[in-house]
Amino acid sequence: MAKIIGSPSRYVQGKGEMKNLCGHAANFGKKLFVLTSVSGRKRVEPAIAEGQGDAQIVYEVFNGECCKTEINRVMEACKGAGCDVIVGIGGGKIHDTAKAAAHYLGLPVVIVPTIASTDAPCSALSVIYTDDGVFEEYLFLPASPNMVLVDTDVVSKAPERLLIAGMGDALATYFEARACQRSDAANCVGGKITMAAMALARLCYDTLLTDGINAMLAVKENICTKAVENIIEANTYLSGIGFESGGLAGAHAIHNGLTAIEETHELYHGEKVAFGTLVQLVLEHAPEDELDEVIDFCLETGLPVTLEDLGIKEVKPEQIMEVAQLAAAENDTLGNMPFEVTPEDVYAAIMGADALGRYYKGI
Ligand SMILES: [Zn+2]
Repeated sequence: MAKIIGSPSRYVQGKGEMKNLCGHAANFGKKLFVLTSVSGRKRVEPAIAEGQGDAQIVYEVFNGECCKTEINRVMEACKGAGCDVIVGIGGGKIHDTAKAAAHYLGLPVVIVPTIASTDAPCSALSVIYTDDGVFEEYLFLPASPNMVLVDTDVVSKAPERLLIAGMGDALATYFEARACQRSDAANCVGGKITMAAMALARLCYDTLLTDGINAMLAVKENICTKAVENIIEANTYLSGIGFESGGLAGAHAIHNGLTAIEETHELYHGEKVAFGTLVQLVLEHAPEDELDEVIDFCLETGLPVTLEDLGIKEVKPEQIMEVAQLAAAENDTLGNMPFEVTPEDVYAAIMGADALGRYYKGI
């Protein structure tokens, strides 16, 4: 199997970069179809207008769900307006709708995240839900977005919990890529891991350790420092390329299992992935100093280290076993771990991680 790395053709990140959107997008088209929310439009339109030049822009309000109905509606609206590039500005569901619509129309797509809570913006993937918001399928796209543009002024003004959740998602990247490398598993773009993807995954982890706490403190004050810039790049680009071209393993499989527990629905994706990372490390019997480093990071940023932190008030063994079974399901990524893992092993690792978390918290 060949080594494959996927990436957006261009990644642009900077303070106040929103005003240069049209200039950058001119590489791909002249008439922009901008999909965003009502509040999103209010926040970004003045800056975009500042640098509009002779570009034409048609704004369209997103209906709230990335479902087939909405994708079809967006495609019709874009065609009707005669636009030649789709721009998705906002959060994950807007991005996924923009990516899917652009793919079906054969148009270039530009993704503009206004939060840094996950590593999805750079990926060649849309998660499709039913009209009622139930997960339906993954739509694997043949290419990553043509461009991802991040205005760090905008992202640093979002609630700090979102940036922290993004760090939780990014925390898993290196450990999952390392597991895939050890097991020689395929990554999410159907190839083996390049040296570049592995180096980006490692840099992602190192950046979290170096700048994570600083960035969190700055964003609490709504300011954008160099540390914030680095964490936005880690959460969005390094983790994005790192997970997709490095591969997923234990942490995300455990996250997926945890979604079966109703109480965890209050938590963001990245918050559950952080706990999944801890479980993967226990499963791997990781060295004590590594566990120590990861748990300390979670404690300092407020990422969950116990089942109680995940909202689970009363731990029921049969419920945790259900999580373990789901995580170990054949179509999930736990099979990418470099050794055989049974649901019993996962159960023990979840309870072990919880015990460790409580020990560190002194409870
Ligand atoms: Zn993730």
